[in-house]
Amino acid sequence: MSNLLQFSISEVLSLLEKKEFSTKELLEAYINAIEKTKDLNMYLTTCFDKALEQAKVSDVNYMNGNQRLLEGIPVGVKDMFCTKGIETTASSNILKKFVPTYESTVTQNLWNQGAINLGKLSCDEFAMGSSNETAAKGKVINPWNFEEERTPGGSSGGSAAAVAAKAALAATGTDTGGSIRQPAAFCGVVGLKPTYGRCSRWGIVAFASSLDQAGPITRNVSDAALMLQVMSGYDPKDSTSSNKNVPNFYNDLGKSIKGIKIGIPEEYNSNGISSDILDAKDLTVNFLKENGAEIIPVKLPLTKYSLPVYYIVAPAEASSNLARYDGVRYGARVDGNSLDEMYENTRHLGFGDEVKRRIMIGTYVLSSGYYDAYYLKAQKVRRLIKNEFTEIFKKVDFLITPTTPTTAFKLGSTQDLLTMYLNDVFTVPASLAGIPGISIPIKLDKDKLPVGIQILGQDFDEQGILNVANVLEACAAFNYVPNGSAQW
Ligand code: GLN
Repeated sequence: MSNLLQFSISEVLSLLEKKEFSTKELLEAYINAIEKTKDLNMYLTTCFDKALEQAKVSDVNYMNGNQRLLEGIPVGVKDMFCTKGIETTASSNILKKFVPTYESTVTQNLWNQGAINLGKLSCDEFAMGSSNETAAKGKVINPWNFEEERTPGGSSGGSAAAVAAKAALAATGTDTGGSIRQPAAFCGVVGLKPTYGRCSRWGIVAFASSLDQAGPITRNVSDAALMLQVMSGYDPKDSTSSNKNVPNFYNDLGKSIKGIKIGIPEEYNSNGISSDILDAKDLTVNFLKENGAEIIPVKLPLTKYSLPVYYIVAPAEASSNLARYDGVRYGARVDGNSLDEMYENTRHLGFGDEVKRRIMIGTYVLSSGYYDAYYLKAQKVRRLIKNEFTEIFKKVDFLITPTTPTTAFKLGSTQDLLTMYLNDVFTVPASLAGIPGISIPIKLDKDKLPVGIQILGQDFDEQGILNVANVLEACAAFNYVPNGSAQW
């Protein structure tokens, strides 16, 4: 069969079942695709030998009719997930040559259901960034208009780019303030950040523990449902993991949205937002109306405090989490004349500038005398932001917003930190509130770059946002393929 790269997960599963091709043939197609798209710099490590071994097992399972939920599906893994026996660096020099002796729960869940690991995908260093430019091994190039060298977004830039470039059938991402949704929007793919606690954080390199969530990046909404179902679930090894039942997200897709109430927050129209993005939002509202949803303008006045709160809470937690990289317990060490000097040298050479900046801000806001003024205050405002969402969800079922204020910008063009931080203005509030959000591509802008729209829902209503996304996906019929994709 020609071009195996074109199929989604659900299509592949049914074609594999019908023996139209084998998992080995599918895997080989993806290995070729990875070779072909090497210049986009998406994979940090590949593990093809192991993958080929696993494909043999999958083929036997199909032969015997024993296939599991994701049998033979080749996925890429963000380098924030610890993978047993495979180098895991979080895109940082300080974790160079760190080979975990354990597997993260989320990736283990995927392998338990027959998914196959293609390799580790680049991201911003320790998931801190919005452009993938803070990765120790350098920039990842967005497959859309690749000759213009645009950012894939960040921090899960490698994951979103690989799915868009058809160098992975799906990928895992992590989202602390937007790192699944923003790169998904920039690369024209689907990215879902579940409710905090839906997926276990165990074995994921910690950035900001009260915000970090794993989630899928996929070609379409039903693939996101399939991946999420397998990735989710209670894990006694993560004390914040939820023991809520995991619904059958995939089977329950396809509900009508007639009569549901959709809130459009006024505040998400702020300055700096491109007209193409506003057009995409209007188009989305029309799609929703055509499908019988009720559109209700709403106000979320505390939204404006989200970024300042995030840039206190996230660095505070990061400074504490990253204290463990001391040259003794993990990864790289740079020797010195004393223990202190060894720590200093290791951290000086091991961490990049953005990570150091966050450690310094985090240490400052946690230090005595400043703790109350910054950290404690930020936590209180965070609670108010959460309450604001809780109140709004008494009036509406979902919120619709743009995912990002702009489409993918050129690599190297955003030197100014504040502009970079502002990129997450629409994604950070949901992270602070812990609620689920999904970004789906709606249209192309005038430069032929994808525009993403975000759907936010109530705690643990991933099913709801998937259903709305499913309806919008059908209306938008976004079937474009980027020119940097392996399919070309
Ligand atoms: N861009 C944001 C940051 O740099 C969010 C990153 C993330 O979600 N991991 O903190």
